[in-house]
Amino acid sequence: MKNNKILVVANWKMNPETAEKAAEIFQETNKAVKNLKNTKVVVCPPFVYLSELEKINNSKVILGAQDMFWEKTGSFTGEISSVMLKGESYVILGHSERRELGETDEMVAKKVVSACQSGLKPILCIGEKERDAHGEYLHFLHNQIVSSLAKLSQKYLSNLVIAYEPVWAIGKGEGGAMKPADIHETSIFIKKVLTGIYNQKDATTVPIIYGGSVNYKNAKEMITLGEVQGLLVGRESLSSKKFGELLKNVD
Ligand code: PEP
Repeated sequence: MKNNKILVVANWKMNPETAEKAAEIFQETNKAVKNLKNTKVVVCPPFVYLSELEKINNSKVILGAQDMFWEKTGSFTGEISSVMLKGESYVILGHSERRELGETDEMVAKKVVSACQSGLKPILCIGEKERDAHGEYLHFLHNQIVSSLAKLSQKYLSNLVIAYEPVWAIGKGEGGAMKPADIHETSIFIKKVLTGIYNQKDATTVPIIYGGSVNYKNAKEMITLGEVQGLLVGRESLSSKKFGELLKNVD
């Protein structure tokens, strides 16, 4: 199972409010991860908590970042670079909440390359805002993938993770997630788009994970019926008890 582990990424977003609370949640997550056999867990807290959490990491949890800028250093107030993230291995890029603030596919494309050049694994978020009966959302997804990967050469493809997060399913709570059969169908579509950009052999090895109202009750079927290689979990990852249950169920 070693190379086929399920990838569960926790996106804490701009939570919690204090470093003490962050440490508390992280300690609990550490406990939950200790006995997992088939699951790789990446926790992405706010940047300011990363180094403290590294110090108290006593399990197999991998720490990651929620965003980064494409330049390595310079006059970019408020930004952090891939160089500053050295030591972390994953970085979420192009999350819909960042795109909502004005991040474009072109900006995401530069970030994806910069991350790979620094040895980071980008978790590239893609997803339509809504679905329509005519399949327009498929064109949207196609363009978003092609544009966000416009600068990524084949040699970095093994670093890439795609997080499919339909925006309409994010933060919706109980019953708000996408149906597993639709997740499966969309993941096949994403693999097809990747095959069109790169070669089929390499494209099919890119892990696709699903995000959007995943909870401890639906997580397992997302993997088994949705046939994705992992999950991106927002809200539920901040509740140590529920996240622990989720990990156990997935594992
Ligand atoms: C997210 O925003 O990445 C996400 C998956 O959120 P939630 O799990 O809360 O829907």
